[in-house]
Amino acid sequence: QEYEHEKIDYVFKVVVIGDSAVGKTQILSRFAKNEFCFDSKSTIGVEFQTRTVTINGKVIKAQIWDTAGQERYRAVTSAYYRGALGATLVYDITKRASFDHVARWVEELRTHADSSIAIMLIGNKGDLVDQRAVPTADAVEFAEDQGLFFSETSALSGENVESAFFKLLEEIYKVIS
Ligand code: GDP
Repeated sequence: QEYEHEKIDYVFKVVVIGDSAVGKTQILSRFAKNEFCFDSKSTIGVEFQTRTVTINGKVIKAQIWDTAGQERYRAVTSAYYRGALGATLVYDITKRASFDHVARWVEELRTHADSSIAIMLIGNKGDLVDQRAVPTADAVEFAEDQGLFFSETSALSGENVESAFFKLLEEIYKVIS
């Protein structure tokens, strides 16, 4: 018996960017596989994971790219951004510097990615409430200024990860349909 393949209506490429160690890989694993991996990764090189979801009755395969450590070497190239319809820009709510660098990452997107790219700003590690260094209001203001969507997540607990990606995918669908 052959497996029945679900018909895919769209493939959406989404890139995950932001400083090193903010939790990009963990957010991606949480969304794609509902996993949080306590081992640190060692792979260098661009990789992607996929998850197929239904939005407005359309079957959408999200192909989500991870820099897999390359951001440490300033090696994220325009090939990474090519064809991307969405981006999740991640900072760590416990690391002020990772939020201060968000403007630079937005600049990077404006330079290399398509101008219609939908951007979701994500403040990750929301579970570390006692170590918060970035007030939610600062991020809300920045996101409004720059026309970004915004969510605070925890890849560890899974809080808001699903909703942030769905919001982004819905916005991409609105742009392309
Ligand atoms: P990347 O370099 O941005 O891909 O970051 P990683 O996904 O490798 O995560 C960096 C570190 O932060 C790892 O030790 C993760 O276990 C940890 N981490 C990632 N997300 C969370 C989170 O939501 N909460 C907490 N407490 N730790 C996290």
